[in-house]
Amino acid sequence: MEVEIEEKVCPFCGQLIMCGPDVDPRRRCRCADAVRFSAAQEILEDMENALEELFGNNCTDVSKSFVPVSRNEMSGLYTVVVLTAAGLFTRANITLHDGSVCTVKKDSVNRKITIQR
Ligand SMILES: [Zn+2]
Repeated sequence: MEVEIEEKVCPFCGQLIMCGPDVDPRRRCRCADAVRFSAAQEILEDMENALEELFGNNCTDVSKSFVPVSRNEMSGLYTVVVLTAAGLFTRANITLHDGSVCTVKKDSVNRKITIQR
């Protein structure tokens, strides 16, 4: 297998980084800013995965009471996740059309539904 390697520059410290064409040099560099960036990216990716798991098409695997949300709702939730992960909000509670509540914190996403009896 042939692996393509490119020479890229870390935008934080200017160091040359050898990496594949689809690799972000900020994820490879070991300078303090790049390490902080990578950690924040990892948290964001985990939150994106949680969002997909809890609200996407397979959310009924998590709970039979969950209903997959529309693309528009998903994109709105994603925006809130990005802004909250970036520190703009400390916590966000969003009530969805099915009555479930999405709680977004700096490093976590949750979905709760109250079943009326
Ligand atoms: Zn760097």
